Amino acid sequence: MTKHPLRYRIPVAAPDLSPLEHAYVSDAVSSGWISSTGPYIERAEHLLASLCGTRAAVLVSNGTVALHLAMLALDVRAGDEVIVPSLTYVATANAVRYVGAEPVFVDVDPSTWCLDPAKIEEAITPRTRGIIAVHLYGHPADMDAINRIADLHGLWVVEDAAEAPLAAYKGRPAGSLGRLATFSFYGNKIFSCGEGGAVTVSEPVLESRIRRLKGQGVDPERRYYFPIIGYNYRLSNVAAAILCAQLERKEELLRRRREIFSRYLEGLCGLEGIEPQPVADWAVPSPWLFSVLVDPHCAGISRDALIERLEEQGIETRPLFLPLHTLPPYREAARARGLRLPVTEELARSGLNLPTYPSLSNEQIDFICEAVRSAVAAVR
Ligand SMILES: *Cc1c(COP(=O)(O)O)cnc(C)c1O
Repeated sequence: MTKHPLRYRIPVAAPDLSPLEHAYVSDAVSSGWISSTGPYIERAEHLLASLCGTRAAVLVSNGTVALHLAMLALDVRAGDEVIVPSLTYVATANAVRYVGAEPVFVDVDPSTWCLDPAKIEEAITPRTRGIIAVHLYGHPADMDAINRIADLHGLWVVEDAAEAPLAAYKGRPAGSLGRLATFSFYGNKIFSCGEGGAVTVSEPVLESRIRRLKGQGVDPERRYYFPIIGYNYRLSNVAAAILCAQLERKEELLRRRREIFSRYLEGLCGLEGIEPQPVADWAVPSPWLFSVLVDPHCAGISRDALIERLEEQGIETRPLFLPLHTLPPYREAARARGLRLPVTEELARSGLNLPTYPSLSNEQIDFICEAVRSAVAAVR
């Protein structure tokens, strides 16, 4: 049975919409520019590109099609292979299949929860074209190591930065660390416009390919002439208006999320068997969903039992992503390869996300920490 999110008093995520979002939406509607041209689109693209330090950003309808466009722009085709983590949202691998290619799953590093550079090379074959590095739960992947391997083998690297806008890797922003990077502005993401996404890009050829493909493939020099098969992956100016407001409020939104992370860290500190997501010393993660691992032997309670205990108190949580190589569309190929991803499987078994969104109050955080503490204590 699917659970209706409204039954939770404290959801796992919620958008934060201020009078600024209302004002910009109202302005967009009043102007009549409610479709996919309009000033907010350009403005949001400029804002995002400057935050990422790329030459350009291209807004699209959602993060999934951003990944699809990345695969198309890089000319990934049937028979090609693309290396991806298995511990990620399903869209990362689905985008590879959209173009007829095969995702090849590689294990993650327990110290970052992202692709383990040490395990990439053994997955490379003559068919491998590139790597999609996912910055999971806001933590950047080890991009220097990943890019070094890619260069050595003539592969491209795409960042799936859906969960990590403004994360920093050795002082450089996520979104600028590969050939292309993709973002999502879905309702539960750090910056949201309901549904939305973007590709950040610095190479002009890739940028113009992405712009053409997202706009039905129309010839930029000749109106109503379609030399290629394109897609309608555009975002509306109304959604872009919301996104502009969110990006302009980035300091405020990030500050509150960082406070929430600190309060969770304090509130759960010293609790045996509850381990927060690690942070590499070269990383400044993006504070998306506060995540912990439950060690059932130390905590005396399993991850799933903890989820239930919290649910009884109206607190919604989320288990870490199910490993994609265990899902029906991917498991046969994984089985045929004899794929083993022990770190991914262990994290997926023991991890969960706690509620994280700017309007979550300190009292609510304390209530959640107390609920976790008593669930752990109850079984001692
Ligand atoms: C949210 C997300 C996406 C997909 O974004 P949508 O906007 O929902 O299509 C892709 N990859 C990751 C890692 C995500 O978290």
